Amino acid sequence: MNRTVVFDTKPYDREQLELASKGSGMEWQFLESRLSVDTAVMAGGASAVCIFVNDHGDRACLEALKALGVGHIALRCAGFNGVDLIAAKELGMSVTRVPAYSPYAVAEHAVALLLALNRKIPRANNRVHDLNFSLNGLVGFDLHGKTAGIVGTGKIGRIAAQILRGFGMRVLAYDPFPSPEWAAVHDIEYTDPRTLATESEVISLHTPLTPETHHMIREETLALMKPGVILVNVSRGALIDTRALIGALKGGRLGGVALDVYEEEEGVFFEDLSGTILHDDDLARLLTFPNVLITAHQAFLTKEALAEIARVTVENLNASSKGLPFLPDTVLVEGARQSP
Ligand code: NAD
Repeated sequence: MNRTVVFDTKPYDREQLELASKGSGMEWQFLESRLSVDTAVMAGGASAVCIFVNDHGDRACLEALKALGVGHIALRCAGFNGVDLIAAKELGMSVTRVPAYSPYAVAEHAVALLLALNRKIPRANNRVHDLNFSLNGLVGFDLHGKTAGIVGTGKIGRIAAQILRGFGMRVLAYDPFPSPEWAAVHDIEYTDPRTLATESEVISLHTPLTPETHHMIREETLALMKPGVILVNVSRGALIDTRALIGALKGGRLGGVALDVYEEEEGVFFEDLSGTILHDDDLARLLTFPNVLITAHQAFLTKEALAEIARVTVENLNASSKGLPFLPDTVLVEGARQSP
């Protein structure tokens, strides 16, 4: 059996997965619903489920999937905070992900947000379309010569750091597992989190969401930052305590905040809610600040990244059904496998 139920499907997911699996005999069922304990039943008859960032693979959900005969959870994203890996292991289920579809896509989006926010491009564009060609209120600052702090120097953080070095910024970095060889090659200085917070004019977050990184940016951290700092988060919303962020924005100390992710994005980001009522008061408040720029979790959204996500996902689903090894570096939990 090689049937996969794809949860939280968007048209671009379907297009790429069908393209990548052409001629492979794979059977898909595409659902718009997100995976949770309540929707797990929709995976009946499938050997695998394919899920994305806002699906909920908690223990109860995994138990329900297991009871239906699902043995493989294929995450079509890098972050894996949405799946209870301990429960998966105990249940003998495999969990794979796509660890590096395009770190360039995500790092370039972080830099795009930084440039747009600093140079007030969305406001300027809205103005000229309204035939208002005045420049008042559009003053930015040169990135050249300023200090950027990169939190997390994995695949994405490194590319972001290198791009910012290319702008002539001094780049500080913090990572509990630093890479001194890489830093030496690119002239990047590892430091402690406090120094990074106090010395940077731009801070960009590139860590996974874990119990240790949850709310790593909170009231105390924000208080350490330089007045006028620009904070960029393209990683996971809950790295930032949103209420504390709103407090700091109201206090006027932050130069700007660029977010591609938001703590409570589930059910809002990726959806077209135009014409409806926004029930999230914190998001509504964030949207009122002129120095907050938000995109709805689109940092990954390039042609190259989507094609790579589909390629790796299809290869792993095929491997799963044939009892063959998964692609290297994609395995989070190796469950009980059929022999080839
Ligand atoms: P990665 O695993 O290559 O790197 C993460 C780095 O963070 C590692 O070097 C790790 O040591 C470091 N780290 C862990 N805890 C830390 C801490 N407390 N402080 C500082 N650094 C810490 O991951 P990656 O591919 O670079 O991706 C990073 C994150 O980006 C993912 O976990 C995911 O949440 C997010 N992401 C977002 C999008 C998007 O579309 N917005 C797309 C892909 C990934």
